[in-house]
Amino acid sequence: MKENLSAKMMITNVGDYLKKYGIKPSLQRIKIFEYLINHRNHPTVDTIYRELVKEIPTLSKTTVYNTLNLFMEKDIVTVITIEENEARYDADTSFHGHFKCETCGNVYDFNLNSSHIKDDILKKFEIKERHVYFKGKCESCL
Ligand SMILES: [Zn+2]
Ligand SMILES: [Zn+2]
Repeated sequence: MKENLSAKMMITNVGDYLKKYGIKPSLQRIKIFEYLINHRNHPTVDTIYRELVKEIPTLSKTTVYNTLNLFMEKDIVTVITIEENEARYDADTSFHGHFKCETCGNVYDFNLNSSHIKDDILKKFEIKERHVYFKGKCESCL
């Protein structure tokens, strides 16, 4: 499908990477994408904004939001909506599952093998998004 996590981790020039996907690499866009590949904790718009505004005082929350939407349009970022009122973002667009701890709120990745999903009905459908969400308590909260 798309590039997997290990390929993403090897991005040395984020500007060139964005250009490859038809995105004009402004400083703000580069910083937002860098934040996502360096912080794999599935941050929200608020978290990204709060962290980056320290470095880029001209940044607005709307810019963060619009930039993430652009990244999603270009398929380089995916959105996680385990909670309907909380969108979290992930620069790893390969197929993997997410576990949300209901105590600490952390969202963890887990590996999935999509070839294990065998259902003939899906062969006849066009799949646009695939999400697997688990909820519970993480190891450190137990
Ligand atoms: Zn926890
Ligand atoms: Zn993830």
